[in-house]
Amino acid sequence: MSDSTFARFLLPHITAMEPYTPIVPFEVLSHQLGRPPEQIVKLDANENPYGPAPAVREALARYPFVHIYPDPEQRELRAALADYTGVPAEHILAGSGADELIDLICRLTLAPGDAIIDCPPTFGMYGFDAGLTGARVLQVWRRPDFSVDAEEIGKWANGQISKAANDASRLPFPASRPPKLLFLTSPNNPDGSLLDPADLKWLLTLPLLVILDEAYIEFAGLEHSAARWVPEYENLIVLRTFSKWAGIAGLRLGYGIFPAWLMPTLWKAKQPYNVNVAATVAGLVSLAHRQEIRPTVEALIAERERLYRELAAVPFLRPYPSRANFVLCRVEGRDARELKAALAARGILVRHYAKPGLENCIRISAGRPEQTDALLAALKQV
Ligand SMILES: *Cc1c(COP(=O)(O)O)cnc(C)c1O
Repeated sequence: MSDSTFARFLLPHITAMEPYTPIVPFEVLSHQLGRPPEQIVKLDANENPYGPAPAVREALARYPFVHIYPDPEQRELRAALADYTGVPAEHILAGSGADELIDLICRLTLAPGDAIIDCPPTFGMYGFDAGLTGARVLQVWRRPDFSVDAEEIGKWANGQISKAANDASRLPFPASRPPKLLFLTSPNNPDGSLLDPADLKWLLTLPLLVILDEAYIEFAGLEHSAARWVPEYENLIVLRTFSKWAGIAGLRLGYGIFPAWLMPTLWKAKQPYNVNVAATVAGLVSLAHRQEIRPTVEALIAERERLYRELAAVPFLRPYPSRANFVLCRVEGRDARELKAALAARGILVRHYAKPGLENCIRISAGRPEQTDALLAALKQV
């Protein structure tokens, strides 16, 4: 297709981009591995194996208004989220997953010539969505323990972007303005470490809009959330999702808590019906029944701790402590890619990394106890 005469209509910074590698769908995996889906131990995408609260399935089955468009102002959902987060609904906007909101924030603030600060190793969507706008992604690497290098971020936030940094980029546009956005993740994906609140406080004094992604905060404890800081700061956004704790990743529901000045522009720019009715019903019922979901979150936290202890006892694995629903491991003395393949051949899926800072690593999601048992048994065989 790229040799079509119309291919010249494409924006050059988009054609130059590396594609994002999403997960392989469950049905396709099942076919590839020659195993029915119920025999696959899926520990590669941090999904909640317990699925949604039973009341969510019932409410979805009963919901009568599938033929009607959803409320563009998300009134009921935002009121429930205000109750859950302790932040007024005027600061809250829901999205089709937190991913949609990352994209929206990038599109509202970035153009060719702009830049963001990303702190790898971390979630890939920040750099990807910023790249789509033509912005330059400045990388301030985390330390070996995955903590954020706040001092280095401070240098980049206040300085102009050097010619050397621009030359190192494959982008057709040099970044000509100081960075606008800083993306932070707490707990961080893929290691599960929490951001130090003192670092966050200091980073908020910089001339940057800070986007704090709390996709896994329910597994760390809501007392570690900075959601309630948002009304006090003009430059803090907190993103959350129902994909992990509430077990509805397939329905796509996330939300952001935004400073007041940004809300009118978000309302103007978002797709009117961005959150569908199934996601809305599932979100409302999940919040109403959160006391029933709590035990599955507790079970996953307990399983994460057990997973860490058991993995630490495997001679070729070095796990990192985590506050999320997964454990990152350095593989020592053997090849992580081969280990991943050997586990997959036994129907056990884990995430493999070969990126800078994550050399020879695998990430394993906390699952049901019997899934951990199957993983540990397979690790003994391979
Ligand atoms: C899974 C994940 C998300 C995606 O959330 P959705 O609501 O499913 O789009 C966002 N941020 C991080 C760090 C994640 O790991």
